[in-house]
Amino acid sequence: MRADACFAERDGELFAEDVPLRVIAERFGTPCYVYSRRALVEAIDAYTQALAGRDALVCYALKANPSLAIVRLLAQRGAGFDIVSGGELARVIAAGGDPARVVFSGVGKTAAEMQQALDAGILCFNVESDSELRRLEGVAAGTGRRAPVSFRVNPDVDARTHPYISTGMVENKFGVPLAEARALFRHAHSSAHLEVLGVGVHIGSQITSVAPFVESLDKVIEFIDALAGEGIALRQLDLGGGLGIRYRDEQPPSPADYVRAMIARVGRRPWKLLFEPGRSLVGNAGILLTRLEYIKRTPQKSFAIVDAAMNDLMRPALYEAWHDIRAVAPRAQSPETYDVVGPVCESADFLGHQRSLSVQEGDLLAVFSAGAYGMSMSSNYNSRPRAPEVLVDGAACVLIRERESLADLYRGERLAG
Ligand SMILES: *Cc1c(COP(=O)(O)O)cnc(C)c1O
Repeated sequence: MRADACFAERDGELFAEDVPLRVIAERFGTPCYVYSRRALVEAIDAYTQALAGRDALVCYALKANPSLAIVRLLAQRGAGFDIVSGGELARVIAAGGDPARVVFSGVGKTAAEMQQALDAGILCFNVESDSELRRLEGVAAGTGRRAPVSFRVNPDVDARTHPYISTGMVENKFGVPLAEARALFRHAHSSAHLEVLGVGVHIGSQITSVAPFVESLDKVIEFIDALAGEGIALRQLDLGGGLGIRYRDEQPPSPADYVRAMIARVGRRPWKLLFEPGRSLVGNAGILLTRLEYIKRTPQKSFAIVDAAMNDLMRPALYEAWHDIRAVAPRAQSPETYDVVGPVCESADFLGHQRSLSVQEGDLLAVFSAGAYGMSMSSNYNSRPRAPEVLVDGAACVLIRERESLADLYRGERLAG
């Protein structure tokens, strides 16, 4: 079943699994993030089933949605985690995830974060530069432990996605160019404080065809084979994340088809395979529920002013991302075209342009495909409390994060005088 079938219409109104979104709005207010447990389970299981029988680990990229309840659910179904900060490591541990299944990515790891991750006993550091390698070596030397490392290489492949989420080309800040990687491997291999496990790539996000993944994998396989020729045998290959989802009319490969294509390329090579999906696990497992506050008609256009804004869901403002927006209970009236906007004082504050909706003031709207990079990118801009999050499981719904209070907005602040 398609994950977004978990948010479907019944008897003229939208449900999350077996719960009317109207009921969720009544109970928890709006704006509110709503996730489907079934969609999350189906998404992680699609990966793990496609990898059955192989030495492999699916490391959920926490930055897509770091909710403790989601992390716990995925951990219970066997996931490991891809983290990019000490804060994300703390979340994995708080949710009961296993640090031994954590890989630590990112170009700017601090010494304190390295120490924290070594103490926790993570699976490996995905090292992105020579300077980082030297720093990690120093931190590891101080603890008397060997730091497990994998290098993130930059294969110089065009992921054919939005430039802000493209990460595997030479002009991007990510990864070590293949030509320089060999020297780093040699150094790490000879260090008493480092243990070389493998190599990884992550070429971008919202990638909707297998071709860039294959192109990148082929370059990395060639690289690993060349290293083996020098006596440096790698055990682990991290294929990164980046598989796209359908927001509108994209036709990305399914996780199973994508995984199968990668496995076909790797063949019988005995490497442990790591995947780091974020968006494709949670993106279509969540919606943002919002209420239409005002309809404002100007000579040029009509605005549907809702109670969610760019601080709640930043993707439209940041990437001009398109999210489907539907009335929770469409009216029996002919639709009108609206720009769906929030109350924030920025012209970039929109959720959708030129959307056809049959609605009246006070109606509920659902913004689809909001499970990834929605809540995790939210802010308090305009001093707006962040939305609550609700996890639906069949006919049950659980509040997994409270709405922030007004006092939360200035918690930790001091009057100077
Ligand atoms: C963001 C990120 C991911 C997840 O990307 P998705 O497109 O959400 O699958 C995986 N690995 C790394 C290193 C990342 O930075």
